[in-house]
Amino acid sequence: MFQADQKIVPRSVWGKFARSRWVMVWFTQLLYYGTAWLEYNGRQALLFDLDTRRFFLGPLVFYPQDFIYLTGLLVISALSLFLFTAVAGRVWCGYACPQTVYTEIFMWFERKIEGDRNDRLRRAAGPWTFDRAWRAVAKNSVWILFAAWTGFTFVGYFTPIRELTQELLTFTIQPWELFWIGFYSLATFGNAGFMREQVCKYMCPYARFQSAMFDKDTLLVTYDEARGEPRGSRSKKADPTALGLGACVDCNLCVQVCPTGIDIRKGLQYECIGCAACVDVCDQVMDKMNYPRGLVRYSTQNGLKNAWSKAQMLRRAFRPRVLVYTAVVWLLIAGMAAAIVARDDLRVDVLRDRSVSFRLAEDGLIENVYRLNLMNASEKVLEVRVSLSGDNPDFRVVEDAPIRVKPTESQWVVLHVQADPEGVESGSNPIVFNIQSARIVDGMVQPASAQTVEEDAVFLAPR
Ligand code: SF4
Ligand code: SF4
Repeated sequence: MFQADQKIVPRSVWGKFARSRWVMVWFTQLLYYGTAWLEYNGRQALLFDLDTRRFFLGPLVFYPQDFIYLTGLLVISALSLFLFTAVAGRVWCGYACPQTVYTEIFMWFERKIEGDRNDRLRRAAGPWTFDRAWRAVAKNSVWILFAAWTGFTFVGYFTPIRELTQELLTFTIQPWELFWIGFYSLATFGNAGFMREQVCKYMCPYARFQSAMFDKDTLLVTYDEARGEPRGSRSKKADPTALGLGACVDCNLCVQVCPTGIDIRKGLQYECIGCAACVDVCDQVMDKMNYPRGLVRYSTQNGLKNAWSKAQMLRRAFRPRVLVYTAVVWLLIAGMAAAIVARDDLRVDVLRDRSVSFRLAEDGLIENVYRLNLMNASEKVLEVRVSLSGDNPDFRVVEDAPIRVKPTESQWVVLHVQADPEGVESGSNPIVFNIQSARIVDGMVQPASAQTVEEDAVFLAPR
């Protein structure tokens, strides 16, 4: 049912791919911790404001009615993942996945405090001493602080981060904010500090279905078996051909640096996240032995089998499947961008007043009450007029004064609709609200910006 894993203690490695991983660590972390503090037009530039059900993305404001754009974004993300996987295998896992990025950061803290692999293994095998204890306390403290900062930033995307800071400093933070900071901190601490490769191996669904997106031209980290075998140790001066050996000196370093603890020489394995740590370390070994680099390298199954050059493999990157994915992704991006640019300024939700089905007004007319949620998705004040569609003289909206909705604001208004009892049918009568909006600039209504939204509703009359 359950097999306990041996703890993996990876050795540190440096090289061109490790450098690329750190570039991505800096890029993604500056993006994550920095974006929360950016402002646009006096408000937080990226904010999912759950209280007012608004999502701010720079100059754009989205409401729950704009859910379709989120769906579009998810479809584009999924197709992009297909595309990147088909071309470059698990490049996302190796360089940009939060699990990889935070594990890299946590391992950096660990190395700085507890030393590299050999020091850590030596301490772990020995008894608990003062030296071992203070290092463990220091490491966990730094991890907790870093995880707490991550959790705080996460909640800062849902509550304005400056307000959140103020609340934290004045001990007025809301319980749900505290809960989510704690929850996200704990998740970061647990995933990056302790679970690490277990998340990739046992929890991540992408690791399981990615092989369905692979083909023989997908870029992978590969071991050149034809060149490396038979493996065996030898002195630097020895001639491997004379000894009947391949290029692999069987130093095991590629296994020691692997964050998922696998041996790349055993071939393609689903645990491999494509981080290329083994490529960096093997290249260093090849340099020391004065052998050509690339015994372990990024290649494709076809490239390895046919001894293709980089240019030949690159040409296969433009195969029909990849071109189709690329075309579909760009079409979707263009379509979504056009839809966002052309979207209406105003969103409207119509709710009937549920406390009373209908009532009789003083002049004998039947009256229904509605609550309209007017949501301004623009950066301008909107002037809104509400009437009923069609030319049925038996129905009218009582309030005919224009309503002003502030930029990016969502506002509730109560409207009364009256009908002549002679002109309505008993029970339910369908009606359509006609809501016209126009932008106001420098106090003047801009007729060119006029837009109309229609919303269906029901008018109830006595039976
Ligand atoms: S690092 Fe390179 S030489 Fe050493 S065992 Fe791995 S493949 Fe062989
Ligand atoms: S086998 Fe190499 S590329 Fe794959 S996870 Fe291990 S170190 Fe990274």
